[in-house]
Amino acid sequence: MILVSSCLAGFAVRYNGTDSLEDNVRTLLERGEAIAVCPELMGGFVTPREPAEIVGGNGDDVLDGFARVIERSGADVTELYLRGAQLTLEQARETGADTVILKENSPSCGSLAIYNGDFAGIKVDGRGVTSALLRRHGIRVLSENNYREALKLTI
Ligand code: SF4
Repeated sequence: MILVSSCLAGFAVRYNGTDSLEDNVRTLLERGEAIAVCPELMGGFVTPREPAEIVGGNGDDVLDGFARVIERSGADVTELYLRGAQLTLEQARETGADTVILKENSPSCGSLAIYNGDFAGIKVDGRGVTSALLRRHGIRVLSENNYREALKLTI
């Protein structure tokens, strides 16, 4: 079983009420080979919500207590991000998922890049909070940008 970001599966759960549909990811879901999860909704957010970025580091730094997740208006929402990450990890364990396909650039789901915390649209190398936690627990974290090659998908 594979966990996939809900927005990649076509659910309009992004902060601004949109989705990020990836047809192949949706097909995995429809075949019953994947389960959709949204760490931010699991953490307690609703859609729409304010955009947030990691300030002071990356998702690993958030897990280690050295960086925070901050909304554009300045609210510290780190605890909700940590809760969403933990619940996603539990979902992976309950379903036996050893692989996830996550949306890129998100402060939760990013696995190759995230925004730099300035809310200026600038990306830096790094992973989000959920991505970092899953990786620490031995789950194979794939990006929307590399999952086709990694899984050798023929769909
Ligand atoms: S937390 Fe992940 S699944 Fe949810 S909207 Fe953001 S990128 Fe998509």
